[in-house]
Amino acid sequence: MNDDLFCKDLPCFMKGLKKRNPHEPEFHQAVQEVAETLMPYIDAHPHYREARILERMTEPDRIVSFRVTWEDDDGNIRVNRAHRVQFNNSIGPYKGGLRFHPSVNLSILKFLGFEQTFKNSLTGLPMGGAKGGANFNPKGKSDREIMRFCQALMTELHHHIGEHTDVPAGDIGVGAREISYLFGQYKRLKNQFTGVLTGKGLSFGGSLVRKEATGYGCVYFVENMLNHAGDSIAGKKVAISGSGNVALYAAEKAIELGGKVLTLSDSGGFIHDSEGLTQEKLDIIKQIKEVEHGRISDYLDHFPKASYHSGERPWSVPVEVALPCATQNELMAEDAETLVKNGLRALAEGANMPTHLDAVRVFENHQILFAPGKAANAGGVAVSGLEQSQNAQRLSWTREEVDEKLQLIMRQIHSRCVEFGTDEKHPNYVKGANIAGFIKVADAMLSYGAI
Ligand code: NDP
Repeated sequence: MNDDLFCKDLPCFMKGLKKRNPHEPEFHQAVQEVAETLMPYIDAHPHYREARILERMTEPDRIVSFRVTWEDDDGNIRVNRAHRVQFNNSIGPYKGGLRFHPSVNLSILKFLGFEQTFKNSLTGLPMGGAKGGANFNPKGKSDREIMRFCQALMTELHHHIGEHTDVPAGDIGVGAREISYLFGQYKRLKNQFTGVLTGKGLSFGGSLVRKEATGYGCVYFVENMLNHAGDSIAGKKVAISGSGNVALYAAEKAIELGGKVLTLSDSGGFIHDSEGLTQEKLDIIKQIKEVEHGRISDYLDHFPKASYHSGERPWSVPVEVALPCATQNELMAEDAETLVKNGLRALAEGANMPTHLDAVRVFENHQILFAPGKAANAGGVAVSGLEQSQNAQRLSWTREEVDEKLQLIMRQIHSRCVEFGTDEKHPNYVKGANIAGFIKVADAMLSYGAI
């Protein structure tokens, strides 16, 4: 065995990763966060190092990139770029969302696909990790333009996915409407009705609670963390960012469990309702966001006593629980300092990597209960896995059955994080999630030999 081939410390490993993947800051950040906590574990279990598991797990199985050509309502030809990053299928078919946002690039999709591999492993379900998307901006597009774009994208993507190969779902900019257009086109091209996508409509193979699963699961995780510390979310003030799929259903569950939700946001700014949201207020927000595709500032047309803070994020509002549910790197070190100063007790990432590494360190230093996205937002992909099971059985489970399974999965993820992450009685959920997610994938890779 030639020892010189192996990096034995984090700086050496990260130097190699950055050299192999230049100009990909989000991917570097995601790997750094994982490698920091995994390196000591790998030191204690050198068979992983000898098999170069970390090097293999940070290299996607493959990346498919392609052109999407479509026609807008004025007859102009438009061109976008799409990718599917099939990161790791060691423990099951690839699984992960599709994102439509102008910022989509390979750095972002590789970070998301890498995280997804750990997250899917943590759910305990047989799912590999993937992510995809396009630099397409759905804002301001008509319904028919969205349909033509989805059909054009699927015309290429269908070559690379399948119910036993790769099963995409939604993400930012891809909700029920987009999944329906994508599924319709897949069915037409393949002449097959199979569970090739999740997040489908209920009339064509979708699962109850899938829409709510990421947000609900995130709040279940917070409740597990607080219960473990002898506390609960009831009566706590809660700040939530975003007003998309994850944020709205995190708010719904937090309200149901007795939390006082004070904020929601979008890329324009945030609303602050000091009286707290109620289910009735949330129903109006759902109408604004999900049906009218409006802006969160429209909330003030209905509730003028609330305030709107243009261009700002909600982290200055004093709360005990924070749920960043919008996008990556939306909570920086100074926001973390403010939250801690204002009495923060627990934070769970509804979004993927919303907390910058420097902010994570602030929370760690103050022993804030901090749940990384790969644990806290795994409820979405978990119910996607349950949707696949229902499709395979040609059955539909009741809302109660699915919700019960979701609660159980979130409880099990919490327990595994505590098992692998507890240092001197304080649970380090980042460490726990990384190690627990790693072991299952790494052991499968070891079993396959050098592939
Ligand atoms: P949606 O598209 O439904 O909502 C995204 C929300 O985030 C919108 O309110 C949007 O505001 C806001 N947002 C997007 N980009 C930015 C930005 N650059 N700055 C500020 N706000 C922004 O997406 P989801 O709710 O599905 O996803 C949110 C996050 O959760 C993502 O990180 C996603 O990867 C993650 N996630 C989603 C899962 C799911 O099941 N949907 C599962 C697990 C994780 P605006 O409308 O102004 O753009």
